[in-house]
Amino acid sequence: MTEPAPIPFHRPAIGDDEIRAVTEVLRSGWLTTGPRVRDFEEGFASYVHARHAVAVSSGTAALHLALIAAGVGPGDAILTSPMTFPATTEVAIYCGATPLFADVDPVTLNLDPGRVEEVLERDAVRRRIRVLLPVHYAGQPCEMEALLPIARRFGLTVIEDAAHALPAWRQMPGERPALPTPRYLDAPAPRRQWQMIGSIGDFTAFSFYATKPLTTGEGGMITCESDEAADLLKSLRLHGLSGDAWKRYTASGSWRYDVARTGYKYNLPDILAAIGLEQLRRSESLATERRRLAAMYLEVLKPLAGEHVDLPVVEPFASHAWHLFPIRVRDSAKRDGLIEHLRGRGIGTSVHFLPVHLHSFYASTYGHRRGDFPEAERAGDSLLSLPLYPGLSESDVSRVVEALATGVHEGR
Ligand SMILES: *Cc1c(COP(=O)(O)O)cnc(C)c1O
Repeated sequence: MTEPAPIPFHRPAIGDDEIRAVTEVLRSGWLTTGPRVRDFEEGFASYVHARHAVAVSSGTAALHLALIAAGVGPGDAILTSPMTFPATTEVAIYCGATPLFADVDPVTLNLDPGRVEEVLERDAVRRRIRVLLPVHYAGQPCEMEALLPIARRFGLTVIEDAAHALPAWRQMPGERPALPTPRYLDAPAPRRQWQMIGSIGDFTAFSFYATKPLTTGEGGMITCESDEAADLLKSLRLHGLSGDAWKRYTASGSWRYDVARTGYKYNLPDILAAIGLEQLRRSESLATERRRLAAMYLEVLKPLAGEHVDLPVVEPFASHAWHLFPIRVRDSAKRDGLIEHLRGRGIGTSVHFLPVHLHSFYASTYGHRRGDFPEAERAGDSLLSLPLYPGLSESDVSRVVEALATGVHEGR
């Protein structure tokens, strides 16, 4: 019998359109930030219903610049989730600020608004907490309708880490003009309406890293409503130069520029924006494919659910982007063995995430230890992300679930 082909944890959805678009840029004579970036920003802003979108070189850069635009500086603190990739927290440290955590909801693994409120009541003034930074875990939007009023009450800027959440929607209270919502969303509950992630908080940071739902290989985007903030972000991403400085080598640009502040080298090149434009065009169909595969997993995994594993749950007011398909292994002592069992059958998996506060740097620098955020820790011990990406076939899904079933039954 021939071995079945391996099923990697991730494979990017890159097609001929992306390849052609990159080739065009390479032949155009303009490689770095330019017209493709401008088109990508315009298309992205309109896609997520944001007033501004500013492209940068990574999701980490997007978070970093959003913190600077929010005025975070030395001695300040930010409040975020421990269930994230350390990029979310290291940007606070870049600013001289301290990352603080609140525990997550045990089901969604998104920030628990009750815990957030507790931390703010205790520490907002004493620790100079300036920013609330919710992470839309796995692509499921946080309870923004609860988190926003809490943040406002304490005078915090809200910066969302939406590295997983494209496209994702949340039913929010209030009467706004109707926006074009996709067909796959149900009618919102009374006195609520669908609002897209990217149009809710003060700033939203997206990542276009190779594994993310929309990829440019490396890249990121910040969306915001404020004109001044968008100008500041455009200046900060390119050495603190005045906003149109990228044009200085074009016929219409000026050679003269001014540095008004210290900036960074965080611009996105046109070569990558060209990939982003093609991915943006396909975003709805890629998302439909993710939803279809997630629904299939949920169905096929039913016999294992409850007894051996817990499945991800979609909240009533959320539409899930399904960047990840994280299950929880009931007997967490078996989790690491299951990863090896699946690897032995050619199936790639991963763990999202080991709680940030337990990484050695965070534990030793900020004095964290096990027990500080029990829900995040229980999750970190039991989580297992299964492969989920457009291009995965139905038989791949069946193979993953069969391998999982033999793994849990062998009691490894
Ligand atoms: C990927 C990721 C980031 C960082 O994005 P990069 O583009 O890799 O810099 C930040 N936060 C979360 C939750 C992520 O998954």
